[in-house]
Amino acid sequence: MALLDYKIATIGSHSALQILKGAKDEGFSTIVICIKGREKPYKMYNVADEIITIKDYNEFPKIQDTLLKKKAIIIPHASFITYMGHADVEKFNVPYYGNKKILKYEEDRDLERKWLKNSGLTLPKIFKSPKDIDRSVIVKFHGAKGGKGYFIAKNERDFNKKIKFHPNEKNYVIQEYILGVHMYIHYFHSSLTNEIEIMGFDKRYESNVDSLGRISSRDQLALPAEKVDPSYVIVGNMPLVVRESYLPRIIEMGENVVKQSKKMVPRGLFGPFCLETVMTPEEEISVFEISARIVAGTNPYTHGSPYTWLKYDKPMSTGRRIALEIKNAIRKNQLNKVLG
Ligand code: AMP
Repeated sequence: MALLDYKIATIGSHSALQILKGAKDEGFSTIVICIKGREKPYKMYNVADEIITIKDYNEFPKIQDTLLKKKAIIIPHASFITYMGHADVEKFNVPYYGNKKILKYEEDRDLERKWLKNSGLTLPKIFKSPKDIDRSVIVKFHGAKGGKGYFIAKNERDFNKKIKFHPNEKNYVIQEYILGVHMYIHYFHSSLTNEIEIMGFDKRYESNVDSLGRISSRDQLALPAEKVDPSYVIVGNMPLVVRESYLPRIIEMGENVVKQSKKMVPRGLFGPFCLETVMTPEEEISVFEISARIVAGTNPYTHGSPYTWLKYDKPMSTGRRIALEIKNAIRKNQLNKVLG
């Protein structure tokens, strides 16, 4: 089958602009599946050869046959997984880039933690009970979209006071709050060559935590508590280049995560993934989360990052890298190696 017979498809949100542009740059036709009313960006930037509009994400299973007929390959991103749900994604029969078997290790906080720990990474301490809180902690709700509702507590009393504002949340984790700078590391692991690449780094722009430093503590004290309690609603991402001397360590971290994933599920983790980290003043890298797919932090690099420039000498976004991988797989007749 000719390369161009395949189409690259994704849901219109998150990093779809980058994914679709990258696919077009590699010679694929593209399809975007949009919720009615959200088509404009994809028209404005002309990245989609076809727009399929649905009323609700739960209509997605109904368009599977259409996608199959069009020889679409779905590229998942965080919004795709969140809107569809892990369990449903596993059942979809449209060709899917990535390893679906890894999804549950990302969704289940215990499995995720085991994975990262067994990869030899440093993780923030977890407190099983509020009684044990002996330092600043961040309380995270399961499935919270973009850090909404997370809060900081300094002891059990503080925790009990603040948890009252979340009467319906039963599923949360109490994690040590790591003070340092945040660094989101974008990796790509090729299941064709078994090589890992660093695609770039970003830092996040979160509301209101990133604006608290703009007013003095005196003015903060004058505000009602709920206004100055930090929240972590993600608004956007900013590019970052790290000290070069950190790279050997960072590369090894990615390699270890992939190596460990192969012990967990057949074929392990491949494609883009991200380690969400905090670098402390002692230069310890604490990993608080893994995203096993493309992250929105790659969006500042639609035209490539300083790192992909070094490797490719042409604009290579993570979206384009995915398309290149699929193209290489088709050429080598190894599509089974990249689909999950
Ligand atoms: P997450 O939902 O785990 O990606 O976290 C959302 C945001 O909360 C992150 O981008 C960080 O700003 C912050 N955060 C999460 N975990 C920690 C932690 N252990 N220490 C410090 N900040 C954190």
